[in-house]
Amino acid sequence: MNNRLKEDNTASGWFGREPERRVDVFDKLDPEKGVTRPTGSSANMKIRAYAVEKMKEAGLDVRVDAVGNIFGRKNGVQQNVGAVMCGSHLDSVVNGGQFDGALGVFSAIEAVRRLEDEGYKNTRPIEIVVFTGEEGSAFGMTLLGSTALIGKMSYEEAAARRDQEGRTLKEALEYMGYKGDFVMDLDTVAYFVELHIEQGPVLFNKKVPVGIVENIAGIAWIYATINGEGNHAGTTPMKMRRDALTAAADIIKFVEKRANEMVDRLGSATVGTVGKLNVYPNGTNIIPGRVELGIDIRDVVSENMESLKQEVSAALKDLERKYGVSVDISLQPTHFPEPLAHEVIDVIEQSAGEVNIRSMRMNSGAGHDSQNIAKKVKTGMIFVPSVGGISHAPMEWTEWDDVENGVQVLTRTIKRLTQIREDGASMTLR
Ligand SMILES: [Zn+2]
Repeated sequence: MNNRLKEDNTASGWFGREPERRVDVFDKLDPEKGVTRPTGSSANMKIRAYAVEKMKEAGLDVRVDAVGNIFGRKNGVQQNVGAVMCGSHLDSVVNGGQFDGALGVFSAIEAVRRLEDEGYKNTRPIEIVVFTGEEGSAFGMTLLGSTALIGKMSYEEAAARRDQEGRTLKEALEYMGYKGDFVMDLDTVAYFVELHIEQGPVLFNKKVPVGIVENIAGIAWIYATINGEGNHAGTTPMKMRRDALTAAADIIKFVEKRANEMVDRLGSATVGTVGKLNVYPNGTNIIPGRVELGIDIRDVVSENMESLKQEVSAALKDLERKYGVSVDISLQPTHFPEPLAHEVIDVIEQSAGEVNIRSMRMNSGAGHDSQNIAKKVKTGMIFVPSVGGISHAPMEWTEWDDVENGVQVLTRTIKRLTQIREDGASMTLR
C-alpha cells in the first residue's frame, strides 16, 4: 500500500482524538479514548479541511451544498452522461473509531489519484461526495446530508435542525465554513459506490477481504412502557405483586427467542434486540413499578420485520393479562430494507475477480447513506473487514492490507462504471 493512503487514514484518526494523537497500528489504540467528530465540532471542521485539501490536490473541483455536503468533481471525456459518484461521511459517533465513514472518503480520493497516475481518461464524470451528519451524533437524526440530497427533507428544514446546544445546522456549517449554495442534481448521477468498514464480524471471521452488499437492512424500533406497581420488596407477598420488570423479562427473552427461530426456520437475516431498559424507581428493595424498553428489529425482508414487530407488540399486550400490568406501545417510523443495484453488485464482483481479491455477497445490518442514494441512483457498497467485528467504539480497526484490498476493488469498480455506455454496454478495459 502506498503511503498517502495510509497517511490519509491515519490523519482521520488524529482529528477528534483527545489529545490528538497519531494511531497507525492496532496496538496504539486506547480502549477508553476513540475519536469524536460530530457535525459542527472543531474536529469535524479539521477533517473536512484535510479532505478538501486532498480533493483539490487530486485536481477535483470542490463545491458545497446548503447542508454542508461536499462534492469533488473530475470531469469526464463526455460531460453530458451520468456521473459515477463515490464517497461516505467524515462525522463520527461520540468516542467512535477512525475508519467508519472516513475510510470511504479517503479511499474514493485515492481511487481518483490512482486512475490519474495511470493516465486513465474516464468517460463519465466522477463525483466524490462527503455526506454531512451520517451518524446523527449532533442533529438528532441519522443520514442527514443524504436525506436532504434525495429531497426526502428540504434543505431549509435540514439546516434549521438544532444540536444539543441549540445551535442550528446552518450556524454550525457557517462556523466551520461549509455553508454552500451548490445544488447537486442526482439526475446527473448514474451510479453511486460507497466503500465502508463492515462493522460486523462476518468478513473478519471468514477471512474474506471484501464484502459486496446486496441489501441494507431495514430498522423498526418499538418503545414500550410497562406500568406495574412499585412497592416494598420485603412486605409485599409474591402473589400480590405487579412487577413491571419481571414482565419486561418475558419480552427480552421473547425477542431473542423469536428472532433466533426466524433465523433457524427461514434462514433469514433477522436480528432482534432489547437494547434499552429504564427501571423505576431502580432500588434494590423496591418492586419495579415502571419499566421502559427500547426494542430494535432489523431484517432485509420487510415481511419478516413486520411479522416480528406484530408478534412483539402482541406479546407486550399479553403482559397485561399475565402480570396485571398496563402496557403502552409506541411504534417508531420504520426504515424499510433497501436492495442495492444488481448492475453495480455485478461490476464490483467482476472488479474484485480482475484484481484477484476474494469477495463474498452479504447484507448490511447497519444503516448507511447508500440506502438513501439507492432510492434515486444505482448503488453498490464495498465492505472491508472490521477487526473483531468492532465498530462505533475506540477499538474499531481495519488492517492496512484490507484497506488496500478495498481500494483496489473500488478503483477497478469506478473505472468500469465510468466506461459503461448510456445503452448499458461496457467498453473493454485495458
Ligand atoms: Zn459509517
